[in-house]
Amino acid sequence: MKQPTVNYVLTIDSTDLSSFAVEMKISNITDTFRVAMVTHPEYDDRYWKYVEDFSVEAKNGKGQLIREDSSLWKIITNGGEALLQYRIHLPTVTGIRSAWKAYLTSTGGLVGGPHSFMYVVASTLVPSHIRLNIPEGWEIATGLQSTSDPKTFYAPSVAVLIEGPVFVGKFKSWVFTVDNTPHRLVYWALPDAKAFDTTMLLASIKKIVEQTSSLFGRLTYREYIFMLQDGAVGGLEHNNSVTIGAPSSQLANGVGNSLPEIAHEYFHTWNLMRIRPIEYRDVTYKTPTLSKGLWFSEGLTIFYADLLSRRAGLHVFDSTRLFHLENLIRRYTVTPAYLKFSAEKISEASYGPIGMLGDYSAGTHLQGEVLGSMLDLIIRDASNGNKSMDDVMRTMLERFSGERGFTSKDIEQAVKDVCGCNVRQFFNDHVYGSKQIDFSKYLKLLGLQHTIEWKDAVLNDQKPAPDLRAFLYQSPGENILRIGVSNPTVAWARAGLHTGDIVKTVNGKTVANPTAFRSIQRNAKIGDTIVVEVQRPSGDQKINVLISGYQQPEVRIRQMAGIAEKQKRLYEQWISGK
Ligand SMILES: [Zn+2]
Repeated sequence: MKQPTVNYVLTIDSTDLSSFAVEMKISNITDTFRVAMVTHPEYDDRYWKYVEDFSVEAKNGKGQLIREDSSLWKIITNGGEALLQYRIHLPTVTGIRSAWKAYLTSTGGLVGGPHSFMYVVASTLVPSHIRLNIPEGWEIATGLQSTSDPKTFYAPSVAVLIEGPVFVGKFKSWVFTVDNTPHRLVYWALPDAKAFDTTMLLASIKKIVEQTSSLFGRLTYREYIFMLQDGAVGGLEHNNSVTIGAPSSQLANGVGNSLPEIAHEYFHTWNLMRIRPIEYRDVTYKTPTLSKGLWFSEGLTIFYADLLSRRAGLHVFDSTRLFHLENLIRRYTVTPAYLKFSAEKISEASYGPIGMLGDYSAGTHLQGEVLGSMLDLIIRDASNGNKSMDDVMRTMLERFSGERGFTSKDIEQAVKDVCGCNVRQFFNDHVYGSKQIDFSKYLKLLGLQHTIEWKDAVLNDQKPAPDLRAFLYQSPGENILRIGVSNPTVAWARAGLHTGDIVKTVNGKTVANPTAFRSIQRNAKIGDTIVVEVQRPSGDQKINVLISGYQQPEVRIRQMAGIAEKQKRLYEQWISGK
């Protein structure tokens, strides 16, 4: 049987920027087939909600389309061909735009990816050409492969198509080369953009690329594009590009403000896009499986975003690695979820529904960074300073740059092979299990010791801070507000509230949205009572939350007295960022 071929045409009409048109010309296709929109495993923006004017033409006359599910359509055609046409009606943005979502303005925008393209179900290895009809004077920046026509691009598979967003418009653009590989930095500015130091931004990004290349020994792409946007926040990694919100107002205060995010998303090019968890398989329209491996994918990415920035001599928020580690331990200690759930479970919960951990909330980024930091110390000690986490990253890339995704067992094996030591207990305790990390045991390997002191949390003016560790949220597809408590010890939980409780009123009034709740909280003082009326299966209930102060740990790390030569040597290597 012949493989189908698919060619896309995406048209942006400057006279109507509320939507864009997509044409999908399919040949060599059976008379009945299905098309769908891809679900992103982490940020499913569900743009199938915005599909309009969907039609199908068969070779001989009209075809038929039947919507079988929210993002799945059955197509009936004839003659082995079908021409699908639809529009994506862009949703109105409330608040600040997320940088990875499709948008259009009179000076440019972002299209492509899961927000634009449908695919033929079960034909995910089909290559395609994508032609872009864009307004006069606009440029194109995309990681998709160029062809002899400057407005036509090529994707060898649906996965590559979906991970190659297309930035279009009028933008500033710079090119630099690392290891003979071209890199392009593209900045799309708002009309009232503030000026910032573009030379410094470019030089800093280049240093991050150089450090990453020297860590892995090579770059893993033909070319790379940094797509930076004014007026947006957040970022998302793609195959050989990143979409990042970098407001000019933030960059004007120092380009260093945007670098941690850029370094993070860029590092994901290796650690998540190449070295990827086993659950992240081929593209699908189905609900993706939650991943047990994100503690590594996110945690080691944040570990390296920090470490590579230090190696590059760039601005970092904690002046030394020691301060950085103190902060990590403090944030870990304040979160009881890490003693209740394994790293694998918290990985799953990070993109699972809110409330998956009951009354606990936790971050896989932080937990993974802490685990990565401790494993790094174990490896340095066991190898007498000859190996580090760097070697684990290189090993993981060698083993998992193909089709196969990794499990935590594979990470355990890679660490074991690098250090020549047994890390079974460490993984049992902290990755598959939820035992408290004994920091003193690992800090001692570098001749360090730490103290944890619990103190009243204070505001900027040193007065005790009220316990505001609860939030409102809205689950996808729901029109109600629910409350979330950070853990069972916060004032809100002690008063009897549970994550998932439906909130009817706060202080006798309905609350419009989570932001409105946040401002009620901001006005609260210690000793105030906030009345939260919740709706439960057992009936409505008014819960009086007495706002109290709360305590936070203060962590200090010091060098131990009389340490051995080896500890001193390992410490010096580590603190210097080697
Ligand atoms: Zn990330």
